[in-house]
Amino acid sequence: MSELTRLCADELRATLAEVRSRYETFAQRGLKLNLTRGKPSAEQLDLSNELLCLPGAGDYSVGALDCRNYGDLQGLADLRTLLAPVFGVSPECVVLGDNSSLALMHDAIVYSLLKGTCDSERPWSKEPGIAFLCAVPGYDRHFSICQELGIEMISVPLHEDGPDMDVVEQRVAEDARIKGMWCVPKYSNPSGAVYSNSTVDRLAKMKTAAPDFRLFWDNAYAVHHLGAEAVEIANIGEACARHGHPNRAFIFGSTSKVTFAGAGVALFASSPANVRWYLARMEKRTIGGDKLNQLRHLRLLHNVGGIAALMDRHRAILAPKFAKVQAVFAELLGGTGVAKWTQPKGGYFISLDVLPGTAREVVKLAKQAGVELTPAGATHPYGQDPEDRTIRIAPSFPDLAEVGPAAEGVAICVLLAALEKLAG
Ligand code: PMP
Repeated sequence: MSELTRLCADELRATLAEVRSRYETFAQRGLKLNLTRGKPSAEQLDLSNELLCLPGAGDYSVGALDCRNYGDLQGLADLRTLLAPVFGVSPECVVLGDNSSLALMHDAIVYSLLKGTCDSERPWSKEPGIAFLCAVPGYDRHFSICQELGIEMISVPLHEDGPDMDVVEQRVAEDARIKGMWCVPKYSNPSGAVYSNSTVDRLAKMKTAAPDFRLFWDNAYAVHHLGAEAVEIANIGEACARHGHPNRAFIFGSTSKVTFAGAGVALFASSPANVRWYLARMEKRTIGGDKLNQLRHLRLLHNVGGIAALMDRHRAILAPKFAKVQAVFAELLGGTGVAKWTQPKGGYFISLDVLPGTAREVVKLAKQAGVELTPAGATHPYGQDPEDRTIRIAPSFPDLAEVGPAAEGVAICVLLAALEKLAG
């Protein structure tokens, strides 16, 4: 299709009529497709089904430790040793949580609000007001935590190599209310951005007006490569220490998209001082995590030949779905001038930018035609995309056979919304 923004009035009318009829035909197929959440498919979950039988009758001890009992607040040392290199930290600096890293992020913020961090003069909640920097497009659940807890959100543009560092450096230097920043440094949700070495270095080095500023380093997609290339990012903990800010990064991760999304193991990792601080708070909250879940993960990850081997099997399922979306978008939207989309090398999402002012309409049209999408605006703080432009595409959950029709439906809606807007 030619560039829609350059069509004359007659061509515009004719193209609109043609796309409208394609939309009607698509809607009449009565499909029920869902590209909303970044959930693993059942086929992916099946890869870890052995977890359902592990650790198995009689297997509940690690050395002298009885995993059925209370205790071992920090989590099984053997599993910490296995997971630590994925996050570029040492096992002593890892705390294992239960199944959700999002819960640990929430905890870390609540602890900071109620008690302050180990570098805080007072609890964050006693400050006149606090704010977080949010790279956009970003992860809606990060933004929901801030909204829920009364933390102001300040958007910063996210480029392919990370957040716009000129803006970040200026903001954190001049505004002491800024206590934190959300970062998904690898295969970010939803654009797939990967922070460059220079971005990591500048985040570690920058001067912040708040002495207790923290990077919320959510490395949710650390090993979730889609291509043969296993992208590596610079080590944030080491960079922060090198620049004299050893406590700056709170690192989070989980096996949610390695094993079972609802029953994995989450982790918090940071400097020794931050780990002591975190454990001191956590100790009041629980007598210890679910060590049997930790143990069965230890056994499974050994049996499947390690994390990388398991991730290769995920990739074999996921990569064709992403390739399908790319192919359909290229065919239907390429050269139209009304859409651009990311081509991530990993993670769970593609970010689709449509003609400004039409994202909500695209989502509405898609729903009416049987394709459920994440609400437009979800990629921005307060659910408000000022340009009404960005849509998150999550192709992981549907079967491969459904991904093509779903992407086709989205593309038709993108064209229809754009043409309707252009036709005024
Ligand atoms: N962080 C990011 C960036 C995510 O995309 C997701 C899942 N969609 C999570 C965290 C949730 O992780 P968990 O299952 O460990 O809570």
